[in-house]
Amino acid sequence: MEMLAGAAILLAGILIGRFLPSRRSAAPKPKGIQPVCGCGHGSSFHGEDGRCQATNETAQWDGGNWAGIGTVPCTCQKYVGPEPLPSFYAPEIAD
Ligand SMILES: [Zn+2]
Ligand SMILES: [Zn+2]
Repeated sequence: MEMLAGAAILLAGILIGRFLPSRRSAAPKPKGIQPVCGCGHGSSFHGEDGRCQATNETAQWDGGNWAGIGTVPCTCQKYVGPEPLPSFYAPEIAD
């Protein structure tokens, strides 16, 4: 009986081992080195004016109730030159 229990534990260990990820390096490797802006989006998301055209996921709340994940346009401006229209850009999106 003792041996049977030991064999069962051994078998269980083998089975569990099969279901566990065998490789530790599961992180996807990026294709080449892409410049990433401070907002976390690649520089390719930024238009000629420097504004980021990607979206960020944000939690949506409806009167205190969870309303799911929504997307808001990224407010990043990679453009570092003089702001042509300071009043146009109003970062009101708070997270
Ligand atoms: Zn961005
Ligand atoms: Zn950016």
